[in-house]
Amino acid sequence: MSVSDTKTRLQRLERILEISRELTSTVALEPLLRKIVVTAAELTGSEGGSILLWNARTGELHFRTACGDRSGQLLEDDIPVPIEGSIAGTVLTSGEPIIVHDAQSDPRHYRGVAEQTGSETRSLLAVPLHIKDKCIGVLEAVDKQGDQRFSQEDVDTLMTLAAQAAVAIENARLVGALRKAYERLGELDRLKSDFIAIASHELRTPLSLILLYADLLRQKLGTAAEAQLDAVEGAAMRLKHIIETMLNLRYLETGEVEVKPKHFDLREAIENVCRDYEALAESNGLLLRADLPDQQVPIEADEEKIRVILGNLISNAVKFTPQGGQVTVALGFEGGAADIDRASARVSGDVDRDSVEISVADTGVGIPAVELGRIFGRFYQVEDHMIRRHGGMGLGLAIVKGLAELHGGRVWAESKPGQGSRFVVVLPRSPAPGQDL
Ligand code: ADP
Repeated sequence: MSVSDTKTRLQRLERILEISRELTSTVALEPLLRKIVVTAAELTGSEGGSILLWNARTGELHFRTACGDRSGQLLEDDIPVPIEGSIAGTVLTSGEPIIVHDAQSDPRHYRGVAEQTGSETRSLLAVPLHIKDKCIGVLEAVDKQGDQRFSQEDVDTLMTLAAQAAVAIENARLVGALRKAYERLGELDRLKSDFIAIASHELRTPLSLILLYADLLRQKLGTAAEAQLDAVEGAAMRLKHIIETMLNLRYLETGEVEVKPKHFDLREAIENVCRDYEALAESNGLLLRADLPDQQVPIEADEEKIRVILGNLISNAVKFTPQGGQVTVALGFEGGAADIDRASARVSGDVDRDSVEISVADTGVGIPAVELGRIFGRFYQVEDHMIRRHGGMGLGLAIVKGLAELHGGRVWAESKPGQGSRFVVVLPRSPAPGQDL
């Protein structure tokens, strides 16, 4: 090979490398493909070039991009090229490159394109576009300039470019498919949210009526139907909790949460919530304990939302702990909640700690390590819903997480399957400057 041949070859390789770099750094397919055909024409010394892709619906090849005299018309008219009886079709089915020095005398040449564009092809070099073992289309260099003929080197160059083009097309298709799937997912999510909103609003009214009339009946009948009315009210209250859970989630999703921060004693708030759950724990044969500091723990937050967080965690702990077990709610400062002595010491010695740590620990069934990150997702439940023994909608922890984050806090779970779980919520004691509470 002569020095000038080597130089030309090097220049070609450099151009290919340049295109390849662009390919990996862009997902905008159109300009990229155009660049590929322009480069294909330039490097093979041709008048034009084109990329044809196989269309599964029509079973034909279609021009995807082109350069040269006829390119505009080729793309505008979307002229199809049949698989049978065309050079591009033969390349597609054989997977091998084809050089045609004289298109007019070649029986494989498809004349439909010339008939529509009014100009004839003289010579042609066509190579397959391979993705793994699948051929998705053809890259062509058209009309070698002057009286030259396409060479083996032109074939090698075009094959290399075709490999790049195939990767770009595949990536762009995947990105497109992913985008569509995301859009569909978003649409489904919106539908689901709307359904939850409508259903929960609609359920609220009849439920209020049930509670109202149960109360009226109680007043009218005195103690005559106490047990039955207790049952009606108990069931209605459970329904109310479910509806409120659905509404809470909806508000969190849409950002329509009304947060009312105020100064209050977190220790007292925890004591109150624990008291609310004492009867439930007792009826489940559990001991509910609160390990709280001796002093008040002032905090600036939305008390009602903090109660929801605690309520959800405690009701889960009660639900997933078998009879004879224990649920412990503790309060301390970040990193010290488990050690109540240390936490108490900190309360007296260092009351200005910025964050509080609330933990709810149980001696229940526990959670497998792989599930610990997933359980905070909406509608996620470790047990398959078809065979689950525990009630619930899989929304409680999503709400806990959303409300904690709304306060600038965070939440996580630790667990030893078969031995128990511990949920930890860390909350700032006052909203961060600029935080919209
Ligand atoms: P729900 O309790 O309504 O199913 P949650 O969002 O509150 O929904 O909890 C999601 C899942 O996390 C539960 O279904 C359960 O599998 C698991 N989980 C939550 N808390 C506990 C706990 N204390 N012990 C064991 N598993 C738990």
